[in-house]
Amino acid sequence: MTQPPWSKTSWQQCTALQQPNWPDKKEFAQVVDTISQLPPLVFAGEIRELKKELAMAAEGEAFLLQGGDCAEAFSMCTAPAIRELLKVILQMAVVMSYAGGKPVIKVGRMAGQYAKPRSADTEMVGGIELPSYRGDMVNGIEPNIEARRPDPERMLKGYYLSCSTMNLLRAFTQGGYAALERVHSWNNAFVKNSPQGQQYEKLARQIDQAINFMRIVGIDTDIPQLKQASFYTSHEALLLGYEQALTRQDSTTGDWYDCSGHMLWIGERTRQLDGAHVEFFRGVHNPIGVKIGPNHDIDNVKQLVRTLNPENEPGRLTLITRFGAKKIGDGLPLLAREMKKEGFKLVWSCDPMHGNTYTAESGHKTRNFDEIMNEIRSFFEIHWSEGTVPGGIHFEMTGENVTECTGGGRKILDHHLAENYLTNCDPRLNAEQSLELAFQIAELMRE
Ligand code: PEP
Ligand code: MN
Repeated sequence: MTQPPWSKTSWQQCTALQQPNWPDKKEFAQVVDTISQLPPLVFAGEIRELKKELAMAAEGEAFLLQGGDCAEAFSMCTAPAIRELLKVILQMAVVMSYAGGKPVIKVGRMAGQYAKPRSADTEMVGGIELPSYRGDMVNGIEPNIEARRPDPERMLKGYYLSCSTMNLLRAFTQGGYAALERVHSWNNAFVKNSPQGQQYEKLARQIDQAINFMRIVGIDTDIPQLKQASFYTSHEALLLGYEQALTRQDSTTGDWYDCSGHMLWIGERTRQLDGAHVEFFRGVHNPIGVKIGPNHDIDNVKQLVRTLNPENEPGRLTLITRFGAKKIGDGLPLLAREMKKEGFKLVWSCDPMHGNTYTAESGHKTRNFDEIMNEIRSFFEIHWSEGTVPGGIHFEMTGENVTECTGGGRKILDHHLAENYLTNCDPRLNAEQSLELAFQIAELMRE
């Protein structure tokens, strides 16, 4: 089926949901123009490299680990916050790649995760109704009318802070910080110091032995493969003006790439077949994710896959399912079966966060560790039984010691949530909870 011509502005002819109501349209257009003159954040060659790795994940030869904040905050664009999140993702990847016997593709929800879709235009904060917070690239979270007014200058600030984040990520991952031995020593410290650490001691010891073995047989641990890590960035590509501004034509292939991040995804609320987001993303060559929730229509998903990946190129499309632990058993088996019947080459990734959100008695939005793990376990089991490949995992997480999700080794309970609840949007796993999940997923991957 031939598709109508695409350009980086053709989305403007379609309905774009979840766009801020910018008060000054001229100012918005000027900011988009300014950003379109600025350098790209990532490069086409890197994006192609990620796509190749994701093509392996589609075949079960690699595993995607994608994680980071629900909403990055401008105020948290600091070296310690970036370093701590990167550190946990690297730690998780070592455990999972050892146990799974395959490379783990590390993708941060970082360096651009500044715009949020919301279910309503207004929200109640402390008894007053205010325009909803839509991410730091749109408006401020402070609970007053002025802060909540969309300000296009925030897109420019988001661009610069994304550059800053990207710069530090490149430095950390290339400069020796990500060396295998160092990352594993952090894992050993976690195993020693966490309340349930002993449970993971056996696996940690086996990794010790593997590293020792390399040393004994004379493998030089100073080589780039063991000293450096490849790390990619991603965000929900919600603000189409921003994405358009960073979309560039690659000089070697002539193809268009959205250079705001390596991987971009379309959220559950903006994946309408005739909508602006789908129109925009069908034309760029990045790896694309699409969130799929329990209320999807199978035929609609099939059409989405055909529209976004007409060549059936492996690595191009990741379906990120987010059913919730209670609903995954009803929805995923049929979805996986039908996509397999079509012969679609897909990466199947599990977002065990967004279908498991509930409000605690204290009023905090939260998620429970066991429910998260239950959804992950079902995800693996369903794909195994359908003959499809569980190819990745998608977390909302932070390197900070927050109390936003309940459960885990430290048994965070509802009444602990207020102690260190910092998120601007959805509740995140803290560093320990994230690592515990990695060890538990590692056990699953070995089955
Ligand atoms: C998110 O990833 O933060 C999000 C809003 O997810 P979804 O589109 O699946 O609701
Ligand atoms: Mn979220």
